[in-house]
Amino acid sequence: MTVRVGILGATGAVGQRFIQLLDGHPTFELAALTASAESAGKTYREAAKWRVNTPIPDDVAEMTVGATTPADVPDDVDLLFSSLPSGVAADVEPEFLEAGYVVSSNSSNDRMAPDVPLTIPEINPGHLDLIEVQRDERGWDGALVKNPNCSTITMVPTLAALDQFGLEAVQVSTLQAVSGAGYSGVTSMEIIDNAIPHINGEDEKMETESRKLLGEFDGAEIDLHGMEVAASCNRIPTLDGHLENVFAETAEDVSPAAAAEAMREYPSVDLYSSPDQLIHVFEDFDRPQPRLDRERGDGMQISAGGIQTTADGVKYNCLAHNTIRGAAGASLLNGELLAEDGWI
Ligand code: NAP
Repeated sequence: MTVRVGILGATGAVGQRFIQLLDGHPTFELAALTASAESAGKTYREAAKWRVNTPIPDDVAEMTVGATTPADVPDDVDLLFSSLPSGVAADVEPEFLEAGYVVSSNSSNDRMAPDVPLTIPEINPGHLDLIEVQRDERGWDGALVKNPNCSTITMVPTLAALDQFGLEAVQVSTLQAVSGAGYSGVTSMEIIDNAIPHINGEDEKMETESRKLLGEFDGAEIDLHGMEVAASCNRIPTLDGHLENVFAETAEDVSPAAAAEAMREYPSVDLYSSPDQLIHVFEDFDRPQPRLDRERGDGMQISAGGIQTTADGVKYNCLAHNTIRGAAGASLLNGELLAEDGWI
């Protein structure tokens, strides 16, 4: 089955990743691109400052960018990926949902809304059933599904693997790449020869989204996971790939070998963009590293390493590619799950 898809905010950093990842996709056919009023009416080649490490696909380069309004998106588009700034998305996404579109969105608005699924297909695919609740409450024919923040999605698969030991609390400190802030997010004068020990709103996103992702859906609402999460988020001068130092407190004692085995054996899913193995665990204590390991599994695999016992559980490091697994790839995978489960 071919699914016709569109991208809202197609000219930005995440939008460009969508175009790269959709090139050659076996079932998704790109049929609509939108951006701001300044880009609307231009060809994609004219509108986008292309910065991804593969050329713009020829057919996409000549597509006309539309305005970000349902009137500019063909009716036969089945699925929209959204990579709009959150403030814009909060206003615009509901218009598309009322018009009946299914939207798989990266933007942070509504991630913690009780009737919006926040989904990682390998972790909580059943949360998609929240769409029924959403449609009842909001009265729209479309559906809104979110993927988590890039720092959250880096850590949560490892926590899902450790939950069998009774996760009670998590502390995490991050070393996040500059691409996570978008192209104009951090200036070179701010970040070269430097580290910034604060990312606006990021600590709270990790602390709340991780509990929703690991929560239980009871048919009506998500019961948040009971673990306490404390996050401290930092920007460093890497280009791509968020590295995180995690301290997980567990009810049961867990050896480094048992933690590593749980992570290695945590199952992936049978979707086109999911990696064969969800979590790669390094034995070497100096891995994972952003430059060496962010492209594993075409940027969709999580890496972990340096697992050691602490007084209350284990500590370890984990890494994921923030604009692939942490953004466009995450939305794409949610789109594949929506199609597989018959929501499109
Ligand atoms: P970006 O590079 O600034 O791109 C923003 C996109 O939205 C562009 O296509 C832009 O079009 C469009 N846009 C801006 N204002 C608009 C308006 N008023 N109406 C319609 N379209 C508008 O941002 P980004 O880094 O791709 O991030 C996009 C979203 O993904 C954000 O919500 C961000 O928080 C989230 N996210 C980003 C990352 C990451 O690693 N970068 C990770 C996870 C989530 P023009 O080119 O015409 O201005």
